[in-house]
Amino acid sequence: MAAYSLLMLPGDGIGPEVMRQVRRVIDWMGRRRDLEFTVSEGLVGGCAIDAYGVPLSDETMAQALAADAVLLGAVGGPKWDGVSFDKRPEAGLLRLRKEMELFANLRPAVVFDALVDASTLKPEVVRGLDIMIVRELTGGVYFGEPRGIEDLGNGIRRGVNTQVYTTPEIQRVARVAFELARKRGNKVCSCEKRNVMESGLLWNQDVTALHAAEYKDVELSHMLADAAAMQLVRNPKQFDVIVTDNLFGDILSDEAAMLTGSIGMLPSASLGAADASGRRKALYEPVHGSAPDIAGRDIANPIASLLSFGMALRYSFDRGEEADLLDRAVQNVLKGGMRTADIMSPGMARCSTSVMGDSILRELDKLVG
Ligand code: NAD
Repeated sequence: MAAYSLLMLPGDGIGPEVMRQVRRVIDWMGRRRDLEFTVSEGLVGGCAIDAYGVPLSDETMAQALAADAVLLGAVGGPKWDGVSFDKRPEAGLLRLRKEMELFANLRPAVVFDALVDASTLKPEVVRGLDIMIVRELTGGVYFGEPRGIEDLGNGIRRGVNTQVYTTPEIQRVARVAFELARKRGNKVCSCEKRNVMESGLLWNQDVTALHAAEYKDVELSHMLADAAAMQLVRNPKQFDVIVTDNLFGDILSDEAAMLTGSIGMLPSASLGAADASGRRKALYEPVHGSAPDIAGRDIANPIASLLSFGMALRYSFDRGEEADLLDRAVQNVLKGGMRTADIMSPGMARCSTSVMGDSILRELDKLVG
């Protein structure tokens, strides 16, 4: 039997509530499928500040580096708003991303049939939508040097950030996109601004070269990032995998997420480089934050976190069958009319976080007979 190590970091706000449901599904996978997990838990964010005075302790960081996958809930909340920038709850998350060298951020945008009306776009535009945005996460203008604000005198200041990419940075994230496409619709659209930025021209050339050398079987297209922003709302179903840099990916992935209309449904994965055995460091987390406005009331939607665990099954453990099972269980429960408050619509049955978890587990039982 395969045994994998999982580190769970529930974090703050609704994090612990939604991760409790994830834990139940992990245990179900252990009981009903030939999958054994060694699960440990740690603190990140505000709760770690309260316990240790830092948003991520060195011990927890070491555990994260050693784990096969890290599952995170959410961090932050008004209690820690006054804390200095480097001690903010978010600094814990940034440290994880940095020290695990998670350079590829995967953000799927999937519209479940039962929730097609939750989108602000017309149902025919989004029905059946299933796209994946791969965003470069550790380079580009958010990290490039020089950066800063300088005083030029006479009341004039100058703000500088630098967009910078190297061939290895571009090609390693493009490689993730091509590999993903092979397991999906076999299409990659690479987005940059080669018309006005040299770094965009390099991006375009390096992706093209990698494609020609190793991925000719995958259909590659290129689109200017501003055109992609328009096409995402005009005809999103033309895309399969989109690969783009840190800045454009930040914007395009949020835009794509909103096509689905419900933040409580959106998972994500962040992957590092593969080691000699093919194992990648990986962090899985819902796109949403800690939702302090609803924390502690058992009303949060656990599906984003559950689908994040589904991504771990697919991308860290190569267990697509179990990931499909979980997807199907979620779909069936939604089809049956169960809704947490955030996705509630007339005629449906409103349920709590834990009842949504119960329903999904019951559905999983039904699916495996
Ligand atoms: P948020 O995502 O926490 O909440 C936005 C809105 O969506 C709220 O009304 C919330 O109730 C609702 N919502 C979010 N997730 C939900 C779920 N699973 N089920 C039902 N409703 C849900 O964003 P925010 O309000 O801007 O930020 C709150 C805190 O979370 C802040 O401290 C912020 O810094 C932090 N945050 C953390 C992360 C992270 O941990 N990755 C991401 C974003 C924000």
